Amino acid sequence: MPIFEYRCKNCGQITEFLERADFKGEHICQGCGSREMEKQISLFSAQISGSSSSTSSDTCPTGTCPLS
Ligand SMILES: [Zn+2]
Repeated sequence: MPIFEYRCKNCGQITEFLERADFKGEHICQGCGSREMEKQISLFSAQISGSSSSTSSDTCPTGTCPLS
């Protein structure tokens, strides 16, 4: 079961919930008890997309660039 991070809109605390991807229930902040939580984008997937884009821009696509 994956872990999802939710940030409280009221106090800003990040709370992790272990749940199914199609879970539709409420998420309650552990800091203030608010139900106004928003799902955070996964840091893991963000790192993968970021590293792949920087690699392609720094490297010559053909390997024959005169400046590299
Ligand atoms: Zn809160």
